[in-house]
Amino acid sequence: RAISTQAAEALKTQPSQLFIDGKFVDAASGKKFDVLDPTNSLYSPAVKAARRAFDKGEWPRMSGKQRGQIMYRLAELIDRHAEELAHIESLDNGKPVFMSKVADIPLSAEHFSRCLGAGLHACLLVGVLACSPCSSVPPSFSLCKYFAGWADKLHGKTIPTDSAFGKFFAYTLHEPIGVVGQIIPWNFPLLMLAWKVAPALAAGNCVVLKPAEQTPLNALRFAQLCNEAGIPPGTVNILPGFGPTAGGAICDHPGVDKLAFTGSTEIGKLIMAAGAKRVVPVSLELGGKSPLIVDKNVDVDKAVEDTHFALFFNHGQCCAAGSRTFVHADIYDEFVEKAAKRAAQRKVGDPFTDVEQGPQVDEDQLKKILGYIDIAQREGARLLTGGKQHGQKGYFVEPTVFADVTDEMTIAQEEIFGPVQSILKYHTTEEVIERANNNVYGLASGIISNDVNFINTVSRSLKAGTVWVNCYNVYDHAVPFGGYKMSGIGRDKGEYALEHYTQTKAVYQALEPNQP
Ligand code: ADP
Repeated sequence: RAISTQAAEALKTQPSQLFIDGKFVDAASGKKFDVLDPTNSLYSPAVKAARRAFDKGEWPRMSGKQRGQIMYRLAELIDRHAEELAHIESLDNGKPVFMSKVADIPLSAEHFSRCLGAGLHACLLVGVLACSPCSSVPPSFSLCKYFAGWADKLHGKTIPTDSAFGKFFAYTLHEPIGVVGQIIPWNFPLLMLAWKVAPALAAGNCVVLKPAEQTPLNALRFAQLCNEAGIPPGTVNILPGFGPTAGGAICDHPGVDKLAFTGSTEIGKLIMAAGAKRVVPVSLELGGKSPLIVDKNVDVDKAVEDTHFALFFNHGQCCAAGSRTFVHADIYDEFVEKAAKRAAQRKVGDPFTDVEQGPQVDEDQLKKILGYIDIAQREGARLLTGGKQHGQKGYFVEPTVFADVTDEMTIAQEEIFGPVQSILKYHTTEEVIERANNNVYGLASGIISNDVNFINTVSRSLKAGTVWVNCYNVYDHAVPFGGYKMSGIGRDKGEYALEHYTQTKAVYQALEPNQP
């Protein structure tokens, strides 16, 4: 690089500590971080490779059918390596290995090539609720295709036109956007990757993806499988790294044509601002504080089980967790007692043993959750069970239930992302609709009821991207997922996801020939 000798000399003694009170000192934490030279940034080669792959490479130029076939092969490889991927996922994230086996890995494979129906979800529920390892799940689910199947179905429209200047017809082309920068969280590492990468690839885009710093392992294993499946080099690039550095570099890189993010609302705002600087489209799947409303005339035992699953699934580390359990006053006392009993029975321990709940993902999350438990007690919520770290080693949290939670309490407003259930009492339908919507988030919601009028009224009134009626945490690849309000912009999954990865070109063509 053409830097002066003087500057090169100065760089040798360049200070790198904090400057406080006239002195350079180490940070109290003792921690250091790397500063990147943006010209030679480690992240540039990845975007450069994706640019080359998109601008000159095969992927966007091959037929949809060919792309679909390669994606299908990739899905089969995920299936074939399911056991190993499930173990890596549990090692990296801490979720029970049987959960990785029945949910995370097969759902990821299915996203590339669709195959499971209600079977998995029933099995998933049974597995979670009864904690019975799902030996009934077939080892391979690659029977037919979902996003692989979309690759050859992305066609536009022919539009009749009427013009005083002559005869024309017009048609639209649905073209890929280009190089897509994707940033994902740690709660479902491979599944969140699949939600992002599969529609992008189906539409012919090239991808630069950053997994969460806590859970990069399966994303890298996935990269190996991409090579094995025959995805051309540069089409999928995986950049493990930290948010502000690796994530920030992707967001700000002029070679990136679109940003897609799943994570906290706080970081989502930064991603949106980065997109605004270069006017690139941004899709965001952010936080939630989802209400789950239990009507009066229901089977209380079943409602307790369903609401327990809605919150405690994946240790409460779900953006869609049913984290505000509204219960009708008529059944409140019985419900509260049984919900506490159910949570107290929840098996917590080593994720490689027969448990329902492993550790939270890291120390930061552990501290954050214990902090919320402390605030809840100080603000007057009634602690029924749990409330502490489970054991002394690892980042386990006791399944915790609070009753008598009120709307203004911090735990009713903010996302805890941990195994902490908050139960709120309500009296009327109008009241519960208003209270359920009284939140900045609008990701998901649920209703447990036998009254069709109640279900119809409430499902249409809730300001949320998903409403689960007499079920929760059901995810089908064909059904869109995303948020209202501060829970995000756009939808993952299904046909709707493809809208974020294609752009529409209108072509007018004269019907009169241009003859000399
Ligand atoms: P969580 O609180 O669940 O960890 P985050 O929103 O902090 O959620 O992180 C989700 C993803 O966003 C991770 O991959 C993380 O590294 C990334 N990230 C965090 N900060 C930034 C940032 N400033 N710019 C880009 N990506 C970021």
